[in-house]
Amino acid sequence: MADNVHPSFGEHGICAVCKRNPVNRWCDYVVEYTNPVTFLRNYKDFVAVNSGNDYTTCDLPICDKCATSVGKDRDLCPHHMSLHRQAKLPDGYQRRRQAQARESMYREG
Ligand SMILES: [Zn+2]
Ligand SMILES: [Zn+2]
Repeated sequence: MADNVHPSFGEHGICAVCKRNPVNRWCDYVVEYTNPVTFLRNYKDFVAVNSGNDYTTCDLPICDKCATSVGKDRDLCPHHMSLHRQAKLPDGYQRRRQAQARESMYREG
């Protein structure tokens, strides 16, 4: 039955958020950092594992309207945009962070 077919997301598909507009952006939020691998049996494996990006991004296919730009060529999906807002240190922590930075400056200099 044709009406059971899911709409296709991704390239040439439709936005995964509004499910209406064509996709032209992908979420750039880093969801996972890949730890460098220290011990491998041989050099070929080592190169294979360590080549390419050392992080994984969300890559959710989204449209212009659903994306929020957070920098040059950096767009976030609505879910990660809300996380991004919370990632900023609250004022109280900011003050303590600055206070400790000043302290260590006195100690060293
Ligand atoms: Zn959209
Ligand atoms: Zn995302």
